[in-house]
Amino acid sequence: MLYPNFIRRKLNLFRSRVPRALMLTLIISCLGGLSAEIHQKPLLAKNQSAKNAWVYAAFPVESFQAYTSGFGYRNSPVDGSWSFHAGIDIAAPLGSYVRNWWSGRVVELSDHTACGTMIKIQSEQWTHVYCHLMGTVGTSPQGRYLIDREGGIILWQGQEIVANTRIARVGMTGRTTGPHLHWGLKYGGQYIDPAPVLTEMIRQQQAYYNK
Ligand SMILES: [Zn+2]
Repeated sequence: MLYPNFIRRKLNLFRSRVPRALMLTLIISCLGGLSAEIHQKPLLAKNQSAKNAWVYAAFPVESFQAYTSGFGYRNSPVDGSWSFHAGIDIAAPLGSYVRNWWSGRVVELSDHTACGTMIKIQSEQWTHVYCHLMGTVGTSPQGRYLIDREGGIILWQGQEIVANTRIARVGMTGRTTGPHLHWGLKYGGQYIDPAPVLTEMIRQQQAYYNK
């Protein structure tokens, strides 16, 4: 490439002043950054494409026992009344860990409703709700937090949580007849049936990891 003379002189000066080792280090670090980017890009692309949307998502309980209640109208197991069940119930042993389904931000924590100790996480258009957890919610000058000392859990409102992180433990808080995770899912603010989403997630993961 042809440079005007004054630029060429500056380049030569630069070349002569910068020791070779330093130049090499600079080049390697640039290449390192580049390769990290190259490595991440396909992952992100797969992550975000509709085809593989949930490859990196996690099943919300670690120790699955059974689905005990589906999404929709049902007779409440607590008082028998005909009511809408806005999620699915997944039975798991008391104190077993709950995992974050999909990377997102903790947008709400509470412990005073029928849902018991509750975490709500927002992942773009998706909102995932976890009910009947162990632990309590407190407020400090730093903000609201969920604490479950025995489980080694502390979670802050506003915190970014990566998919598959242990966020809580299965408890008996709120209105429940046995230890289970009530898992609610909203898309664009509307409750939807989480079961087909989990089924599709498992299908995608099996296809992805078994190929
Ligand atoms: Zn439920």
